[in-house]
Amino acid sequence: MASGKRHLFVGLLSVYFFTFIISNYFFQPSFLDVLLYVVIGLLFALWPDVDTKSLGQKVFYMIFFLTDLYLIFTLQYKLAAFFGLIIILPVLANHRGWTHTRAAMILVPLPILLYPMITNRTLDCSNLPFYAIAVTGYFSHLLIDGQLFKK
Ligand SMILES: [Zn+2]
Repeated sequence: MASGKRHLFVGLLSVYFFTFIISNYFFQPSFLDVLLYVVIGLLFALWPDVDTKSLGQKVFYMIFFLTDLYLIFTLQYKLAAFFGLIIILPVLANHRGWTHTRAAMILVPLPILLYPMITNRTLDCSNLPFYAIAVTGYFSHLLIDGQLFKK
C-alpha cells in the first residue's frame, strides 16, 4: 500500500504536468488558478484512501467534521443530517472498494463541474479545468495503487 506521502508526491507531479500542458497548449492560468490546481489535485490524490486509516482519511474527516459543525452552528440541521449520512459511506465499504474504481474517478469530482451549471442554469463549463485537475489527482492515486487497469 502506497503511503499518503507517496500519493502527495505523485499527485504534485501530476499537478505539475497538468499545469504545464494547460499553460503551454490551452491558456495561461492565474496564480490563484494554479494554487487551486495544487489544492484540488492533492486532495483528490488523497481521496480514494478515505476508506481506510490513512492521511487521506484524516484530512477528509477533518474537513467533514468542520463542515458539519458549521452546518449545525448555522442551524442547517437537515443539511447536516444528510451530509453526516453521506460522509459515513466510504468507511462502510471495504478498502479499495468503490473509492478505487475508474467510475469513482470520473463521478466523485463531477459536482465541481456541475455546480456552476446548476446554479447558473446554463451550460457553464468554467470549472472544467478544476474538474480535470481533480480527475488527474484521482488518476495518480489509482495509477500508483495499481488499481487503474484492474477489471
Ligand atoms: Zn489507495
